Amino acid sequence: MIKKASIFALVVSLFLILLSSACTQPVEPVLAEQLAILDNSAEVEFPDKLRFNLSAESDVNITDVRLYYTADQESYAQVTSEVYIKFVPDATIDVQWTWDMRKTGGFPPGSSVEYWWTVEDINGDKIETTPVRVQFDDNRYSWQSLTEGKVTIYWYKEGQSFAGELMLAAQQALARLVEDTGAYPKKLVKIYIYANTWDLQGAMIHPQEWTGGATFSRYGIIAIGIASNNLQWGKSAIAHELTHLVVHQMTFNPYNDLPRWLDEGLATYTEGPLEPALEGHLSLAVAEDRLISVRSLSSPFSAYPQQAYLSYAQSYSLAEFLITSYGQDKMLELLNTFSESSSYDGALEKVYGFDMDGLDTLWRDYVTKQYQEDEVTTAALLPAQTGTLANLANRLLLDLRLPAQSWAWRWAW
Ligand SMILES: [Zn+2]
Repeated sequence: MIKKASIFALVVSLFLILLSSACTQPVEPVLAEQLAILDNSAEVEFPDKLRFNLSAESDVNITDVRLYYTADQESYAQVTSEVYIKFVPDATIDVQWTWDMRKTGGFPPGSSVEYWWTVEDINGDKIETTPVRVQFDDNRYSWQSLTEGKVTIYWYKEGQSFAGELMLAAQQALARLVEDTGAYPKKLVKIYIYANTWDLQGAMIHPQEWTGGATFSRYGIIAIGIASNNLQWGKSAIAHELTHLVVHQMTFNPYNDLPRWLDEGLATYTEGPLEPALEGHLSLAVAEDRLISVRSLSSPFSAYPQQAYLSYAQSYSLAEFLITSYGQDKMLELLNTFSESSSYDGALEKVYGFDMDGLDTLWRDYVTKQYQEDEVTTAALLPAQTGTLANLANRLLLDLRLPAQSWAWRWAW
């Protein structure tokens, strides 16, 4: 009997304890009914759009949804964009936000964007999703790839040997570049080979009729249209653009671009011997005493074809002069000095002991001797070059639209 009474008292006590606890503390909702992400995805509509989708639910109204994204590119500071999503508050939401690149400028094929969401309900519960990387690939084609060292070539039209030849040209260019300047790719490089200019233009948001290719240094990406019957041009163009990309990787800094003559000079020099058409322009300018000053060549080149050809020829010759007269070590030192945001005159003075005017004087001596000793007359050279000039014009048009800066959020011309 005593035993039974004790058990009864214990049960009553437990009941009272439970009752008092239920009265003083609100019952927490079950975890499964709290804020949760149901779906989180992104769709690529290359090259115009990137669409982000999110579904979420809660036991109360969801009131705040934000999308964050950041592009995978070399930059001085990580830039994250934040988008406030407009929607009607509800316990279950299904929102979408489309990044229309026709308005903002686009990304090159092969680039990527990392994104994540924050979702908050009226109770102040908040979720931040794990960042996801979405590849902005040109999914209009089935790409094959070939990788050697830091370079990957992507192509879709021709056979393996076509890609192999372009890879050989790329590797030979890198070997020449490191031998002459000490510069080498610090990061991975992707080269997208479109089968022709039309296909390439389809990858661009605002294509220009003559666009043959583009280099996106901050993304480590080159996109170029090379038909199988234009392989020779393609090899030179790859050597040239690859040099731009590597040199920009070597000298990336927040303040100063390279002088144009150095940037174009190294790119043209890495292609191999100066094209006869350009050499004709150079020797004629020497003979007629109308060389452009080094200081002028430090700024963007003239848009007039004759002046542009001469600018490229002189840039080649300036690179040749510095490399053959002072060697690889000094050129590497010059590039490293530019990476520290040095001024043009300051970098030259530090490494070579002369400024741009000093270089101008020394180089004029060098090139004048070179062409005065040359037995080939300019008059005989020029008329024979009409064939190569068309090819050259194509190249220069491609290149003249490739400023070293401003790649960030748009196709750069
Ligand atoms: Zn160039």
